[in-house]
Amino acid sequence: MEESVREEAVLPSAPGEAEHPALGLANSAVALPGGHMADLLGTPARAERWLTQRDLAPEDTGMAEMCATQLRSLREQVRSLLASRVAGRPALPAAVKAVNDAMTRVPTASLLLWDEKTGPYRATPHPTTAIVEHALAVIAADTADLLTSPDAARLAACASPPCNRFLLKHGRRQWCSTRCGDRARAARAYARRTATE
Ligand SMILES: [Zn+2]
Repeated sequence: MEESVREEAVLPSAPGEAEHPALGLANSAVALPGGHMADLLGTPARAERWLTQRDLAPEDTGMAEMCATQLRSLREQVRSLLASRVAGRPALPAAVKAVNDAMTRVPTASLLLWDEKTGPYRATPHPTTAIVEHALAVIAADTADLLTSPDAARLAACASPPCNRFLLKHGRRQWCSTRCGDRARAARAYARRTATE
């Protein structure tokens, strides 16, 4: 446990994660060399930190295991959709349904409200009982945006095994991080050396 906390602390976000929380969710369980897995949503406390760091939940919501489970479950569906898009395959209907369900479970429209003194204004309701549902809805909507926007053409899976992260490509770079790029280059150089020996 301590080891995976240390690992994730030095792992930078993949390109595109800052603009797309859906990409961040998909990349929140990272496969590391040596068969290790670092799961940023591994416990309710870590899931809560992941959400607050992205302004998807207020501090100290006191997240339950159920909430972390919901996030991890949406993550699998989002990963499945991103993988389908990258491979040019049809999506699993269950994954499409999961995203649409998350998007429509809570109201995300900006409602008309009326203040007695200052008059009409618009705001999105954030009931404290639906903090996680609201976060899931935001991420699900971003998944739909990402898959249908021009950004989708830049979506790629990191080309440095065992890494399982997705990224938005800039130019020809196929890696989620310089660490993955260095590892891929080292693996290629090693393969060349052993081939010529
Ligand atoms: Zn990578």
